[in-house]
Amino acid sequence: MRKRLMAGTAAIIIAGFLVAFSLAAKLVQDQYQLEFTRRLDAVLAMMESQESAIGEDPQGFAVKIGQELRLKNQEIRITVLDAGGNVIGDSAAQGQDSLPQENHLHRPEVQQARQGAVGYDTRKSDSTDREYYYAAVQVGDRYFLRAALPTEEMRHAVSMVWIYAMVAAAAGCVVVVPLTWLIFTRLSKPLKQLSDASLKLAAGDYTSRVEGIYRDEMGNLARTFNVMADNTQRAIDEMKSKQHQLEGVLQGMHDGVLAVDGDNVLLFLNDSAKQMLGVAALQTGKPFEGSLLVGKISAVINRALREGKIIEDSAVSAASPQGERIFTVYATPIQNNRTSAVLAVIADVTHISRLEQLRSEFVANVTHELKTPLTAIRGSIELLKSADRDQETRRYFYDVLDIEAERLHHLIDDMLVLSQIENARPDGMDQRCDVAREIRETAARLRPIAEKEHITLQLDLQDDICVACSPSRLQQMLGNLIENAIKYNQPHGSVKITAEKSRQMAVIRIQDTGIGIEEEHFNRLFERFYRVDTSRSRAIGGTGLGLSIVKHLAVLYGGEVSVESTPGKGSTFTVRLPLLLPEKTGT
Ligand code: ADP
Repeated sequence: MRKRLMAGTAAIIIAGFLVAFSLAAKLVQDQYQLEFTRRLDAVLAMMESQESAIGEDPQGFAVKIGQELRLKNQEIRITVLDAGGNVIGDSAAQGQDSLPQENHLHRPEVQQARQGAVGYDTRKSDSTDREYYYAAVQVGDRYFLRAALPTEEMRHAVSMVWIYAMVAAAAGCVVVVPLTWLIFTRLSKPLKQLSDASLKLAAGDYTSRVEGIYRDEMGNLARTFNVMADNTQRAIDEMKSKQHQLEGVLQGMHDGVLAVDGDNVLLFLNDSAKQMLGVAALQTGKPFEGSLLVGKISAVINRALREGKIIEDSAVSAASPQGERIFTVYATPIQNNRTSAVLAVIADVTHISRLEQLRSEFVANVTHELKTPLTAIRGSIELLKSADRDQETRRYFYDVLDIEAERLHHLIDDMLVLSQIENARPDGMDQRCDVAREIRETAARLRPIAEKEHITLQLDLQDDICVACSPSRLQQMLGNLIENAIKYNQPHGSVKITAEKSRQMAVIRIQDTGIGIEEEHFNRLFERFYRVDTSRSRAIGGTGLGLSIVKHLAVLYGGEVSVESTPGKGSTFTVRLPLLLPEKTGT
């Protein structure tokens, strides 16, 4: 723009000078012509007054007049023509012989003189090859007198005018163009600042402002721009902060949250979603694809997009890196005028589903376990009600009632214990629990039962084994295992109980010579109500909860329980509990 302005200014200056100087040149030329006319008129008038002298010697007359004029510093050529237009005298000719031969009658000034007026013309002379300003008059019927002034002087003056014009125009340009440059720079500086600041703002630099504001219209514009930029920056900052807040909330959510546009491209994805889906390549701006699970969720999202309503699908399940998982997907379409997208919330309901399954299994099992003794009790009562029962039969049914009531009592006791353990935190963690002592006490309690079954109890215990456990709960664990070892033993069999320390753990083994367990049952053995031989277990009053209680307690105290068994030969149940650290054993 600056260059165009400079060129424009120079053009205006040059054009202005050209117009002015062409007028001046014309004026100079006119002025010269007027002066030439006046001088030639005076010479012609002077020659007319000497008409009589012409006839005697026209050439001499012309030369004489020419000389007289030269003496007065006037270089005027004098020509005398006869009535036919032939040159009979010429001050520029050397003699009569060298007079121009061509006829001058048709020269423009002579033609005009023939009309009776003074004739004028400017042209180049054929004889002298110079340009002259001619003036001619007719004197009587016999002669034409002509005076001519060379126009070189006039042409020189006009040329000088033009040279001055050029010099003046050049000087004007030299002065005006840089001056214009300076003025323009001064005027355009705030405009440039404003333009630069606007460009930066448009490019996303919201801190861009116009500095050094002038006190004029441009200043007002700059101030308005700055206010506008302030407002924009504030609005953008507010928007960003809200966006960060929202992203923070979404990122912090336990559920997976993701947004996908109509072209199946991810717009947002929180860390939980990334973890749940387990596809490392998933990121915003990339297509939402990469695994079977992602495909299933994508199908739910597409349905929401197609039907334009919230879709909930709780049956989405897939093998994720964490194993078989069950997810619930809520897909909500987000629609505005231009774009359509779907916000999906993915909840991992695997744990809840498993709990739900366990709960219903537990209810079914408990109902079943309660039903059996209750049926026996009701049957016995029915039979007792009839009066024709002898004493012996009555006693038998009383025994049945006693046994079934005892079974119910055991069942309810075991269920209560299990429920307490499930809801409990380890109580007596700081309690020093002497493993050997608890084993001896439990064995002593169960020895009568063992003797009844002709089973020997052997103890091989290392002393000074302490665990952080409630003694009653340790006894509960040991009791269940020793009872099982007696219950599922062979007649005249034995149960060996050992306790030792190994790798910071107290290791308690209950080894029997009983019926043993097939390996296929190992996995489920510690589940609630799981029995290997249901009828035998029931017959000997088992509830199916004993091992489940042992496992829960072992886990509660940071330990574990495991089984090894050979069918027909016997089983070994091993309980491992963390040893109490030496510095704590003194408490
Ligand atoms: P129950 O009250 O039926 O004994 P448990 O939970 O204590 O219930 O045991 C579950 C099942 O494991 C038993 O029904 C039995 O079949 C089997 N079992 C437990 N201990 C032994 C063992 N020492 N020898 C063989 N089988 C056993």
